[in-house]
Parts: sequence; C-alpha cells; structure tokens
Amino acid sequence: MGFFLFFTLGVYDMSAVLPAAGASREDYVIYSIGLFCFQVCMLCSVGYHLFCCHRSEKTSRRWMALDYAGISIGILGCYVPGVFYAFYCNDYWRQVYLITVLAMILAVFFAQIHPHYLTQQWHRLRSVIFCSVAGYGVIPTIHWVWLNGGFSALIVQEFVPRVLVMYLIAAAAFLFYISKVPERYFPGQLNYLGSSHQVWHILVVLMFYWWYQSAVYIMKYRHSQPCPVYPMHA
Ligand SMILES: [Zn+2]
Repeated sequence: MGFFLFFTLGVYDMSAVLPAAGASREDYVIYSIGLFCFQVCMLCSVGYHLFCCHRSEKTSRRWMALDYAGISIGILGCYVPGVFYAFYCNDYWRQVYLITVLAMILAVFFAQIHPHYLTQQWHRLRSVIFCSVAGYGVIPTIHWVWLNGGFSALIVQEFVPRVLVMYLIAAAAFLFYISKVPERYFPGQLNYLGSSHQVWHILVVLMFYWWYQSAVYIMKYRHSQPCPVYPMHA
C-alpha cells in the first residue's frame, strides 16, 4: 500500500502538481529521486516480509539485509529533496550536505551487506547507525536556520515545525520498533493485527508522506520567492 501510495503520488505530482508549480527539469529530477527512493524502500520491505520465511536461512538473511538497505535508501529519499530545496540559494552548502549525506548512506549501505551486520551482537550498533544517519539531519537544519537569519524569518517559522514533526514521527516509529510495544504486554494476541512492527510501518509511510509534502511546500516557496543574497556570496 505504501508503494502504491508513492507510485500514485509520483504520477499525480509529475503530471499535475509540478507543471502547475512551474517546475524546471531540476525539480523533476529531484522529485523523481525522492519518490523512487521511497518506492524502493517499500518494495524492499515487501520482499523481506514475503520471503523472510524462506526455508534457506541464507536467503532469509539476504532479504533482511535488503530490508535494512531499503530503509537507508528511504532516508536518502528524505534528505535529497530536503537539502536541495532548503539550500536552494546556496550552492556551496547544498553540495557539501548532499555529498556528505550520499557518502554516509553509501557507507551504511555497505555496512549492511557485511555478514556480521544482522547478528545479535551487532543489534545495538544497528540502532546507533540508524539513529546517526537519521539524526545527522539536525546539523543542516540548525545551519539552515542560522543562514536564514534565525527564528524571526518567516520561512524558518514555516519550515522548522515541519522538520520537527518529521523527527517526532520518526522517533515514535523507532520507539515502537525497538520497544516491541504493545505485543510484549499481550503475548500471542497481536500476531496478526496491532503489533509494533505494523505501527512502525504505518508511521514510516506517514513520515515519508509528511516529508514529501513539506518538500513540495518549500519548492513552491522557492519558486515564488527570489533567492536572498547571503553575505558569504559577496
Ligand atoms: Zn518490516
């Protein structure tokens, strides 16, 4: 369902929303990357949940590795449009953040293929890596607020709450994921419906959707407002 949501959203936005917003070829590329990442993330998850019961443990683990890799691709899909439009008027920092994000995601991607990555011993490390990759976004956010002149700027007041809501949804999703609430209190009763992993998946889709809409919002803002001249450009 998440896959079809982002697929439909892609078709709709490419044919209606982006043309109406006067989108350039660059905008189409950035939106395609974001939506493609979300769709890949959803499909990896579908693959894992369908085939994790495979009788070969090796095959099952491969699907699990792909599921984890899908999450980092999904996070990349959040970073690319976010960084691209937030730093729309500042080529230098846009490139710095896009490159660091890409390098980080690639590093995590290769770590996830490591045979030890899925072992129980690496359980804590997996959570640390996951939180660092997601939490890294706080740095460009704070920097962006500063570049835009602090909280008095209108765009900061509009956009920062959107970033906060995204992190709140992500934090809630992660808490359900690791705490195994509510099924730990009702053993055996939530095997089909209402388990933490289902809540996790719903929240992840909600977060991607929320962030996607926020990216559309800031793109429209960038198209309607000319770039201010930063002192560092002088
Ligand atoms: Zn899952």
